[in-house]
Amino acid sequence: MNVTHLYCSSCAKKYEANRLYNLCECGKPLLVAYNLQECAKQLKKESLNQREPTLWRYREVLPLEDDRNRVTLGEGFTPLVNAKRLGMKYGYSNLYIKDESLNPTQSFKARGMTMAVSMAKELGVKKVAVPSAGNAAGALSAYAALAGMEAHIFVPDDTPKACIVECKALGAHVTLVDGLITDCGKIVAERKEAEGWFDVSTLKEPYRIEGKKTMGYELAEQMNWDLPDVILYPTGGGTGLIGMWKAFDEMEEMGWIGSKRPRMVSVQSDGCAPIVKAFHGGLEHGTTIENAHTVASGLRVPAAVGDFIMLDILRKSDGTAVAVSDEELVKGAEEIGAIEGIFAAPEGGALLAALEKLRDAGEVRSDERIVLFNTGGGIKYLEAFE
Ligand SMILES: *Cc1c(COP(=O)(O)O)cnc(C)c1O
Ligand SMILES: [Zn+2]
Repeated sequence: MNVTHLYCSSCAKKYEANRLYNLCECGKPLLVAYNLQECAKQLKKESLNQREPTLWRYREVLPLEDDRNRVTLGEGFTPLVNAKRLGMKYGYSNLYIKDESLNPTQSFKARGMTMAVSMAKELGVKKVAVPSAGNAAGALSAYAALAGMEAHIFVPDDTPKACIVECKALGAHVTLVDGLITDCGKIVAERKEAEGWFDVSTLKEPYRIEGKKTMGYELAEQMNWDLPDVILYPTGGGTGLIGMWKAFDEMEEMGWIGSKRPRMVSVQSDGCAPIVKAFHGGLEHGTTIENAHTVASGLRVPAAVGDFIMLDILRKSDGTAVAVSDEELVKGAEEIGAIEGIFAAPEGGALLAALEKLRDAGEVRSDERIVLFNTGGGIKYLEAFE
């Protein structure tokens, strides 16, 4: 195990490795630090092609101590599709889709939850709880079931029905809340101590992001260690963006890639775009969105605890943030479906609409190497497509 310690993303306070944590004392997310010199000695990028096709191929840069605690359903190492037909229709010569819908429980949330639940198992947790907009709940339910843990799920009562049915079928205790994910989060926070639940909320638990960061490692490996020019990412809580950026820094420190970074673009929906508003308003933090609404439920996060980290990444990478309407994002998903054969989540569909806006605004060129992260499968969003 190559973890040296954890550190606060805001105040830099250090914490001992291999413990259960939620937020730093100061209320901000904790991140995991590794001895990357040691990692680089143990893991050579050239030897990766002999390893298993899951995110566990990057074992040396993951936080679990004992492999017997792995709780895995075969997550990660999803295809990077060269979307030639879509590119041809819209006039992009190097368009790719990283298709995360092929993960267990049909979304990239599986990456975070395999890690969080494996760590929780290693550290003796018996009951886990999460507030979710949908896909995190499904993923947690699956991994908790496999680990023999109780899962307590809190979702808005208008969460896509398939997510709710899925959690129940996976044996979780599901509570529907008349409110948003932030209201669900408050309930978990209030009850967790008395109930003995470990809270695995987005970025309030430091190991989910370690699973999510493997998207960055995979992208580099699949692009032969030459990162794309632009990454479009549908943003809710921001673990994907923050995790990939962390992975790029780790890979540079291990000598796997250079200092060049993709421009990172955060895509949200008009009905809930705190990061887009803060980015263009020149703010360091997001402001809470009232009456947040969008059918892309993964984007319905009115306030994110890691907003300041995301905004910093967007600016450092010379990226940007774009919002699209619900109509546009559903249409985007239908285009990707009809042209590439991938039934994308509305969150993934948002990226195609956002890309068009960026090109119109002169912020992306048609010949750049562009990657769209389709974060989930459309099959869970029947209401949105009907
Ligand atoms: C959760 C989710 C998102 C948002 O992801 P973050 O990394 O938390 O910003 C995007 N798309 C889908 C399908 C999701 O489930
Ligand atoms: Zn702190």
